[in-house]
Amino acid sequence: MISDFEIREDDRKQFAEEFLVRLPARIIDSHVHVWTHACVAIPKEEYGKYKQYKPWTDFDYMKEFTIEDYLFCAKSAFPPKTVIPIVFGSPFPQIDRTMVNEYVMEHAQKYGLGFYYIPGQYEDMEETEKKYNLLGRKGFLGLKPYPDIPVVQGRECGIYDMLNQSALEYAQQNKLFILLHIPRKGRLHDADNRRELDECTRTYPDAKFILAHVGRAFCYKDIDGLIDFLVGRENVWFDTALINSGPVLEYLLHRVDSTRILFGSDAPLAFCRGKDIEINNKHYYVSEHPVPWGLGPMGGSIQEFTFYIYEEIRELLRASKAVYGQNETSHLENIFYKNAGKMLKITN
Ligand SMILES: [Zn+2]
Repeated sequence: MISDFEIREDDRKQFAEEFLVRLPARIIDSHVHVWTHACVAIPKEEYGKYKQYKPWTDFDYMKEFTIEDYLFCAKSAFPPKTVIPIVFGSPFPQIDRTMVNEYVMEHAQKYGLGFYYIPGQYEDMEETEKKYNLLGRKGFLGLKPYPDIPVVQGRECGIYDMLNQSALEYAQQNKLFILLHIPRKGRLHDADNRRELDECTRTYPDAKFILAHVGRAFCYKDIDGLIDFLVGRENVWFDTALINSGPVLEYLLHRVDSTRILFGSDAPLAFCRGKDIEINNKHYYVSEHPVPWGLGPMGGSIQEFTFYIYEEIRELLRASKAVYGQNETSHLENIFYKNAGKMLKITN
C-alpha cells in the first residue's frame, strides 16, 4: 500500500463539486500496476538505490500495491462510483517478472478483472501459452511490454527489443491488445520510434496497439504534430495514464475520436498526492512530502495537495469542456467506460 494514503475532507469536497456529476457511474481504469511484496527481488538495504529517480521503485514508500489496495483506494476516492481496474505487474528489473505475472493472472481472475502479461526479451510466447493457457483465462487482454525489461548494449532499447517476433505474432494471431510504453529518451520525437511504430502497426494489423501515456506525452512539445501519423488507424488507441497536462489532453481530444481514447490512472502513483508538472518542456513530479524522485517542499509538507488521479481527471474534464462543450456526456462515457468495456466484452 502507499504509506501515506488517506482521504481528507477537502478530497471529498473536490470530488463532489467537480467530478460527481460529470463522471459516469461506472469507470474502467485501464492502466493499473500491482505487485505483492514477495515479488520485490532486491533486499531492503538496496531500496535507497532504486528510489532516486522514479516513484515506481520506491519500495519504502510503496512496499507493495495489491489488487485489494487498488480496490480500497478507488472505493475511498470515488464514492459512489464503481471503479474497475485493468491490471498488470510492475515492469521493472527489481520486481520478479515471473512472480508478478503469476500473481496478476491468478488474482485478476479471482476478481473477474481484465489483465495483461509482461513478456520477456527472448520469451517464446508459444511456450508461455502452453505453460499458462493465457488465452483460456477470462480477462486476458494481451501484452504489456516495457523498455526497462530488455537488456541491450551500446544503444537504447527499441520496440522490437520489448516485443520480439513471437510476441508480435502471438498478438496478431489472437487479436490481442499490446499496451505499449514507447521506448527511447526522445519519445515520439525519435525517428526510430516513429518508424518502428508505423511498421509494426502495419505489419500486424490484427494486433491492437494502445499507446500508453498518449505516447509518453507528458508535455505539449511531446505531442504537437507527433501522434498525427497514427490517428485513424484501425488498430491504434491511446491511454491517458498519468497525463496531468491540459494542453496535451486537449490536443488528443481534438485529433483522436473519443472511441479511441481510454482513461487510465497509472496507479499506484495515481493515489499519491502531487501533480506532474511541465517546466521548460520537461516534466517533474511535485509531491506533498519531500521524496527523492520529485520536487517538493523543503522540510515538512504542504498538506494542501490532492491525488494525482484527481489532477488527471480535472485536466481531462477541462479539455473535454474545451473540445466537446455541452455534448461531452457520450464522449466521456466512451473514454471512462465504454471503450474499455468493449475490450472486456462488457455489453451493457
Ligand atoms: Zn504505467
